Order: sequence, then C-alpha cells, then structure tokens
Amino acid sequence: MRPAAGVAGIVGRLLCLLGFHDFKIIDATIGFGSAGGTSTVRCQRCGRVVTRSN
Ligand SMILES: [Zn+2]
Repeated sequence: MRPAAGVAGIVGRLLCLLGFHDFKIIDATIGFGSAGGTSTVRCQRCGRVVTRSN
C-alpha cells in the first residue's frame, strides 16, 4: 500500500468516527405525496449501512 493511500485511509476513518461518512445510496424507495420515501445508504469507507427517510 502506498503511504498516501494509508494516510487517506486514516483520515477517512477519523471522519467516520466523527460522523462524516462517505455515504452512497444502495437502495431507494420513492415516496408519494407527503409520505416521503426512504433510502438505504452505505459508507464506502467503514461499510456502515443506514436507512433514512427522505
Ligand atoms: Zn463511514
């Protein structure tokens, strides 16, 4: 592993610890009207999966 990649990984992990995840939408449900939908997102760094309402 290159040193630069290692540093980026450490910084990314710190950001995750602070709650700044690099979320990517892996599933989404379209809502209707005011009900809204939900989207499932996963952090590309730590793998945390969160379902949140839109
Ligand atoms: Zn994360």
